[in-house]
Amino acid sequence: MRIEYWCGHCKHLVGQVNCPEWTLEQAERFCGLHTLSPVEHSEWVAYDKNNGVLSVQTVCDYCQSAIERNPELLVEGKLLQ
Ligand SMILES: [Zn+2]
Repeated sequence: MRIEYWCGHCKHLVGQVNCPEWTLEQAERFCGLHTLSPVEHSEWVAYDKNNGVLSVQTVCDYCQSAIERNPELLVEGKLLQ
Protein backbone atom coordinates (compact mmCIF):
# COMPACT_ATOMS: atom_id res chain seq x y z
CA MET A 1 0.00 0.00 0.00
CA ARG A 2 0.97 3.60 -0.37
CA ILE A 3 0.49 6.34 2.20
CA GLU A 4 -0.02 9.85 0.85
CA TYR A 5 0.04 13.00 2.93
CA TRP A 6 -2.02 15.83 1.48
CA CYS A 7 -2.19 19.38 2.71
CA GLY A 8 -5.79 20.03 3.74
CA HIS A 9 -5.50 23.70 2.80
CA CYS A 10 -3.75 23.91 -0.56
CA LYS A 11 -4.17 20.25 -1.65
CA HIS A 12 -0.42 19.96 -2.14
CA LEU A 13 1.04 16.45 -1.95
CA VAL A 14 3.32 16.77 1.06
CA GLY A 15 4.86 13.35 0.94
CA GLN A 16 4.29 9.68 0.37
CA VAL A 17 5.50 6.40 1.73
CA ASN A 18 5.55 3.18 -0.25
CA CYS A 19 5.28 0.06 1.83
CA PRO A 20 3.83 -2.73 -0.30
CA GLU A 21 3.93 -5.37 2.40
CA TRP A 22 1.95 -3.41 4.96
CA THR A 23 -1.60 -4.08 5.95
CA LEU A 24 -3.98 -1.20 6.55
CA GLU A 25 -3.65 -1.76 10.27
CA GLN A 26 0.14 -1.50 10.17
CA ALA A 27 -0.01 1.65 8.07
CA GLU A 28 -2.49 3.27 10.45
CA ARG A 29 -0.27 2.46 13.39
CA PHE A 30 2.79 3.84 11.58
CA CYS A 31 0.97 7.13 11.00
CA GLY A 32 -0.47 7.21 14.51
CA LEU A 33 -3.98 7.14 13.05
CA HIS A 34 -5.23 4.64 15.62
CA THR A 35 -5.05 7.44 18.21
CA LEU A 36 -7.55 9.60 16.32
CA SER A 37 -11.17 9.78 17.38
CA PRO A 38 -13.65 8.27 14.90
CA VAL A 39 -14.71 11.78 13.83
CA GLU A 40 -11.14 12.95 13.27
CA HIS A 41 -10.41 9.74 11.46
CA SER A 42 -13.31 10.16 9.06
CA GLU A 43 -12.28 13.77 8.36
CA TRP A 44 -8.56 13.29 7.90
CA VAL A 45 -8.14 9.79 6.60
CA ALA A 46 -9.38 8.14 3.44
CA TYR A 47 -8.52 4.70 2.19
CA ASP A 48 -8.80 3.82 -1.47
CA LYS A 49 -9.18 0.08 -1.37
CA ASN A 50 -8.94 -0.41 -5.12
CA ASN A 51 -5.62 1.39 -5.46
CA GLY A 52 -4.31 0.54 -2.00
CA VAL A 53 -3.72 4.20 -1.17
CA LEU A 54 -4.16 5.63 2.29
CA SER A 55 -4.67 9.40 2.11
CA VAL A 56 -3.90 11.38 5.23
CA GLN A 57 -4.73 15.04 5.55
CA THR A 58 -2.03 17.21 7.08
CA VAL A 59 -0.70 20.76 6.81
CA CYS A 60 2.26 21.53 4.60
CA ASP A 61 5.14 23.74 5.75
CA TYR A 62 3.95 26.61 3.62
CA CYS A 63 0.44 26.65 5.05
CA GLN A 64 1.73 26.03 8.55
CA SER A 65 3.91 29.15 8.45
CA ALA A 66 1.16 31.14 6.71
CA ILE A 67 -1.29 30.21 9.47
CA GLU A 68 1.23 31.16 12.12
CA ARG A 69 1.76 34.55 10.51
CA ASN A 70 -1.91 35.16 9.74
CA PRO A 71 -4.21 33.03 11.90
CA GLU A 72 -7.25 34.78 10.45
CA LEU A 73 -6.58 33.09 7.10
CA LEU A 74 -7.67 29.83 8.59
CA VAL A 75 -10.94 31.30 9.82
CA GLU A 76 -11.74 32.91 6.51
CA GLY A 77 -10.85 29.81 4.55
CA LYS A 78 -8.95 31.87 2.01
CA LEU A 79 -5.60 30.18 2.24
CA LEU A 80 -4.04 30.13 -1.20
CA GLN A 81 -0.60 29.09 -2.27
ZN1 LIG B 1 -0.59 23.71 2.11
